[in-house]
Amino acid sequence: MKNLTEIYGCMVFNDATMKQRLPKETYKALKKCVAQGESLPRSVADVIANAMKDWAVEKGATHFTHWFQPMTGITAEKHDSFLNPLDNGTAIMEFSGKELIKGEPDASSFPSGGLRATFEARGYTAWDPTSYAFIKENVLYIPSAFYSYSGEVLDKKTPLLRSEEVLNQQALRILRLFGNTAVHKVSTTVGPEQEYFLVDRAMWEKRKDLRYCGRTLFGAPPPKGQELETHYFGSIRPQVLAYMADLDEELWRLGIPAKTEHNEVAPAQHELAPIFTTTNLATEHNQLTMELMQKVAERHGLVCLLHEKPFAGVNGSGKHNNWSLSTDTGANLLDPGKTPHENAQFLLFLCAIIKAVDDYQDLLRLSVATAGNDHRLGANEAPPAIISIFLGDELTAILEAIEKGEVYVGHEAIEMEVGVGALPHFRKDTTDRNRTSPFAFTGNKFEFRMLGSSLSIAGPNIVLNTIVAEVLGQFADELEDTQASMKDLGSSLKTLLSRVVRDHKRILFNGNGYDDAWVKEAEKRGLLNLPSAAEALPYFVADKNIEVFTKHNVFSEAEMRSRCDIMLEGYSKLIAIEAGTMLEMIRKDIVPAAYTYLHRLADTGRSMKEMCPDLVCGQLGGMIEALCGMMDELQDKANALAEELATAKQESDDKKAALLFRKKVLPAMEVARGVADIIEQHIGEKYWPYPTYGSLLYGV
Ligand code: ADP
Ligand code: MG
Repeated sequence: MKNLTEIYGCMVFNDATMKQRLPKETYKALKKCVAQGESLPRSVADVIANAMKDWAVEKGATHFTHWFQPMTGITAEKHDSFLNPLDNGTAIMEFSGKELIKGEPDASSFPSGGLRATFEARGYTAWDPTSYAFIKENVLYIPSAFYSYSGEVLDKKTPLLRSEEVLNQQALRILRLFGNTAVHKVSTTVGPEQEYFLVDRAMWEKRKDLRYCGRTLFGAPPPKGQELETHYFGSIRPQVLAYMADLDEELWRLGIPAKTEHNEVAPAQHELAPIFTTTNLATEHNQLTMELMQKVAERHGLVCLLHEKPFAGVNGSGKHNNWSLSTDTGANLLDPGKTPHENAQFLLFLCAIIKAVDDYQDLLRLSVATAGNDHRLGANEAPPAIISIFLGDELTAILEAIEKGEVYVGHEAIEMEVGVGALPHFRKDTTDRNRTSPFAFTGNKFEFRMLGSSLSIAGPNIVLNTIVAEVLGQFADELEDTQASMKDLGSSLKTLLSRVVRDHKRILFNGNGYDDAWVKEAEKRGLLNLPSAAEALPYFVADKNIEVFTKHNVFSEAEMRSRCDIMLEGYSKLIAIEAGTMLEMIRKDIVPAAYTYLHRLADTGRSMKEMCPDLVCGQLGGMIEALCGMMDELQDKANALAEELATAKQESDDKKAALLFRKKVLPAMEVARGVADIIEQHIGEKYWPYPTYGSLLYGV
């Protein structure tokens, strides 16, 4: 492999490249526009576009594309060449500022939830200069926002950028209260840890369920599952190692800071974690990572499964969204800090997050709600569907002391000096770790652990940023009113923090989130438990949620209602595809295979009888009878599933339909699968139409 530092970011039109390639004034103008959120003058855009094109063409690019994040959860692109034919039969490569700034893909086939009638197919993409253009497979990618003719937002990027901006504004108000005038920008940072499975491509091709649905719909448990726990952090097999090295190089070329790779708990499961960066970039990087994981796998005769639960009975895959706030002066606002002053500010941010998570449990829960993730949450491999916060023992004790107005006497407690001295001083606590909490404080950041592996991280971060901004705004309103001197700030802070802890401590839970007892305890505390996406998604348009998003201009009400419909509809469609695939597999593959095997058994019996008429083939007869019985049952269950599917498909109300899929179709699928899995165990392997769990999980 080539020198890492040489290849890192070599395909990105990043800050260093811009500085080198753009005329000084252009570079300055661009920086200024980005910093102040203004749009670029056309003349400046022309210069940038031309420099970008020259750079891209030198690197072999022939096309450009506006690259955007529609509500499908994956990214979209449409390539245009730089070609401009001349009258004399030759051609030149051209790229204008106009083309850089605005694109016009035909948008009629992207989900819009009724926001844009299909006769008004026009949708626009607009360059996001806060991100970086890059080259992939000879195409210049221009990160873009996506919106409709009438201005409604149709993507995941725009609300994310807006949520970052509101968080910035409200966090700055808090910093000003503490007398901090040096900071001009607060950004959220994210490091998403990504889990995935690798399976053999030839085997994958033989399974319609994996091909159509990304997960197995059948499969008897293999004799060896994950019970020995030998895979986690185990030595990585050569084929996988080669894959990871190849993937790393691809990611590094795109400036994606892939850092940590290891085997995960389940056989064939792995994880990749990048070094954290600002949220907008981290989101794009994660989308690219997922895409490249799949593309690179192809070159290695593998398939990368990003589904949340590819195999029943084996741990599924999630994504941990590590989230924090950092300033343009390089401080992490969720770092407790070294002085009492920093501690007080930290506690205020911490309590804002606690209140936000408690007030908007439903939003956080539904931000990770998908059909795939429903298989994980609450299944003893992932956090429960109940939102709670883990703080660790020391921080919890500090908050308890604040609530009671007592002096905290922990091992690191130090006497107070400045005006905010009413609050305790403490150091970063890195002692305890809790892996069962959905939302855990891990020393200087929060780790939101409920995300499914295939999810775009935009959604959860839009929610996090907006709800924390809302509460920071409430705190700022209260403290700005009462603030006259630093001393007063100290006492108002104390009152505020003590009240927030009292009102919201129900959301704090340091115990084992996988324990059934927690479900009961959470109910007693009045915490929301929304076990499935069908139940969670409608909360998106609850009054208080519409209020918070519209107040901060992150979404309009119409955008929220349409997004809710899109999510519910997507949920139902996905399960309908799974059920349809299941029926096809039963009727076209499993039933014929089982009858072929039965035929073989019957033939065997018949020829044995012919040779030795007195022979008693009790076992064989029993096998045939039992299998015939199972086959009848399987076909009954398939018919029952077909009926449930037809009924659910007819329901026109999105909310009701989603519930029918959840409560009727999925259970019918489970039942049919149960029978098929038993049949699999009674049939000779070479008759079974699909590679088994054993060969899939241990085939790489
Ligand atoms: P673990 O597996 O123990 O959770 P990892 O080291 O695998 O830890 O992942 C931690 C992730 O958190 C990394 O992606 C890291 O870059 C990220 N991270 C660290 N500090 C911050 C921060 N201030 N903001 C956001 N993410 C962070
Ligand atoms: Mg983690």
